[in-house]
Amino acid sequence: MRIIEETKLDYQDVLLRPKRSTLTSRKDVDLEREFTFYHSPKTWKGIPIMTANMATCGTFEMAQVLAPYKMITTFHKYYTVEQFEEFFKSFNNPDYVAYTLGIRDEDFEKLKIMQEKDLLKHFSFICLDVPNGYLQKFLDAIKMVRTICKEHIIIAGNVVTNEMAEEIILAGADIVKVGIGPGSACTTRRQTGVGYPQLSAVIECGDAAHGMSNSQGVGRIIADGGQQFPSCVAKAFCGGADFNMFGSMFSGFEESGGNLIEKDGKQFKEYFGSSSNKAMEEFYGKKDSHRASEGRYTLIPFKGSIHNFIQDLLGSLRSTGTYIGAQFLKEFPKRATFIRVNRQLTTYLETFDTGK
Ligand code: 5GP
Repeated sequence: MRIIEETKLDYQDVLLRPKRSTLTSRKDVDLEREFTFYHSPKTWKGIPIMTANMATCGTFEMAQVLAPYKMITTFHKYYTVEQFEEFFKSFNNPDYVAYTLGIRDEDFEKLKIMQEKDLLKHFSFICLDVPNGYLQKFLDAIKMVRTICKEHIIIAGNVVTNEMAEEIILAGADIVKVGIGPGSACTTRRQTGVGYPQLSAVIECGDAAHGMSNSQGVGRIIADGGQQFPSCVAKAFCGGADFNMFGSMFSGFEESGGNLIEKDGKQFKEYFGSSSNKAMEEFYGKKDSHRASEGRYTLIPFKGSIHNFIQDLLGSLRSTGTYIGAQFLKEFPKRATFIRVNRQLTTYLETFDTGK
């Protein structure tokens, strides 16, 4: 048994120190980035924010809204090949959509059918997603997917430590998805005791990934989960995240998945983890007897259309840029000084200003 004595940090454990700035307006802060990658020959440009690949936010409706903002929708893996065929008759914006798969046999069979039907050309990103990215068979799966998706930008995770971030890139991924246990619908920490404070995971994995470069590009990371407020997104970028992915902040809207539910005269939308009993029963018809639920089911007060939230999120990020003197998103980590503070406890859901 070993104990790491150094304190590791979550987003709520820090604030950003303001810095002298020559910027005159939030409008001056540019949130777009252009990335090259370690394996994929593609160059990607946009606002590096993406939905989680969850049934409640990785939806076709969300992609229609986010693509014009140059933000990415990571589709949940429950859409059928036929549904994708239908959707891509009227949607053609590969840079802003990701295809998700797990490592079950049926996931690989579906990937092959998608390839045979020439549907993978509609995605720039392929997201290989498992709760525990530390299994050797996950690394083998990345290698296999790279042989099928030679040009795609491959996302793989989740992990939280530097050595595994490097392994995942060496196995063939371009972007490492970082986060075990921070998600708002996630109960992994409570059920298993496993996890890693998310800001430290982002800083350490980012450092490892960015240290891996070749003549084409460098390793990249996504900060996945645990962002309760726009400030958490800013802190993740400051900590070195290339992309931010989240679920609960993209849920509860018209464009989100989950049923709309009336309760005591108020409207709610469902939000549930991908490993919750609800997800396992709804999408697989049953929960395997050897599995425990590692996800929660909850109701989010219905928030209407997502456009107001996007304005709020992007406006907040630009404001962070002016406070720390960063004109470009790329400069956030260079300009950031974190101050350790006592935890701030309110949740964004309680404070989001819907204008009502
Ligand atoms: P949020 O933005 O809601 O804090 O976190 C979203 C992230 O939580 C997802 O991208 C995914 O990594 C993680 N997640 C989603 N569902 C589950 C689940 O059922 N169990 C666990 N352990 N993590 C989940």
